[in-house]
Amino acid sequence: MPAKIYYDNDADLSLLQDKTIAILGFGSQGHAQALNLRESGCQVVVSELPGTANYQLAQDNGFEPLPTEEAVQKGDLIQVLLPDEIQGDVYRSRIAPHLRPGNVLMCSHGFNIHFGQVEPPPGVDALLVAPKGPGHLVRSEFVKGGGVPCLIAVSDGAAESTRALGLAYAKGIGGTRGGVIETTFAEETETDLFGEQVVLCGGVSQLVKAAFETLVEAGYQPEMAYFECLHELKLIVDLFYQGGLNYMRYSVSNTAEYGDYTRGPRIVNEQTREEMKKILAEIRSGQFAKEWILENKAGAPAFKAARRQDRQLEIEEVGRQLRRLMSWIDAKEV
Ligand code: NDP
Ligand code: MG
Repeated sequence: MPAKIYYDNDADLSLLQDKTIAILGFGSQGHAQALNLRESGCQVVVSELPGTANYQLAQDNGFEPLPTEEAVQKGDLIQVLLPDEIQGDVYRSRIAPHLRPGNVLMCSHGFNIHFGQVEPPPGVDALLVAPKGPGHLVRSEFVKGGGVPCLIAVSDGAAESTRALGLAYAKGIGGTRGGVIETTFAEETETDLFGEQVVLCGGVSQLVKAAFETLVEAGYQPEMAYFECLHELKLIVDLFYQGGLNYMRYSVSNTAEYGDYTRGPRIVNEQTREEMKKILAEIRSGQFAKEWILENKAGAPAFKAARRQDRQLEIEEVGRQLRRLMSWIDAKEV
């Protein structure tokens, strides 16, 4: 069955006219969604932690950030845009006690609802409106008159009006300009985790690291290895994005295309596909979610160690030097 996709004409912003939207967290998604909604004429309140940079950012943007409890009390739609790993705790202590029947509890990633960390009380529907792009793009595309495509999902047994509110919300952040795909909490959560683990974050960074190290160990200059294995990846992905695999193959040399068909399957082989299936099974069974929740309960020691270790890699050091010399690429350091 083809996916159901909604556009501007399927959504009615006036449904939000007499509603207050509480955005909890003014981070990557929070700042983008709050600003877009306000400019779409919606009534928005935000909550942030006092004394943080994002609290200041919210103030600089004309919001007066409230404590979480107060924002929940004011909101008819409560959009939780806190880091996923703290949502369960904040929900139990600061959100749930203030929810009223008729409220709609929202999120932009289904992890906590799907894996039972957030369980809305009777009378409160769960609604997912998830932009398929980073918050900064959600904002910049909207400002340009465009929008980042979104996903929408409602909890089992939710009122039909909840989906309509979700479409209005998606319109308010610019999503219906790009298209809003109907999904379920399970599908959004599982495919999102799979994509980031296997391709977007895990798969790609491991591929780049291993290829860089192979060249450097063989005696090639690290600068060469950096350009070949990391920098040029963007150019290839841009071609995928514009015209799929075929457009990339049209654009590269025949030699590169022949290497692609004959060598690619040796890198991502049967064993890799078997591992992908295992990773998907760990996601679906909840094993990954349990591991990540426990890791955070313990203060995230393995997570922090891995982060520290990868920041010291040679590819990162070489890249930092090279990016400084490429003024046009808008180099970033965190
Ligand atoms: P961020 O970490 O960028 O933002 C979260 C914000 O919440 C931060 O400003 C953080 O402050 C603040 N915060 C932390 N604790 C509290 C608290 N107790 N009360 C109030 N504010 C608090 O998160 P993201 O925007 O990346 O993610 C939010 C949600 O959006 C997640 O569910 C994520 O999966 C989803 N999402 C994110 C995407 C993205 O591109 N980033 C894409 C699609 C979905 P501080 O930084 O000071 O700790
Ligand atoms: Mg994702």
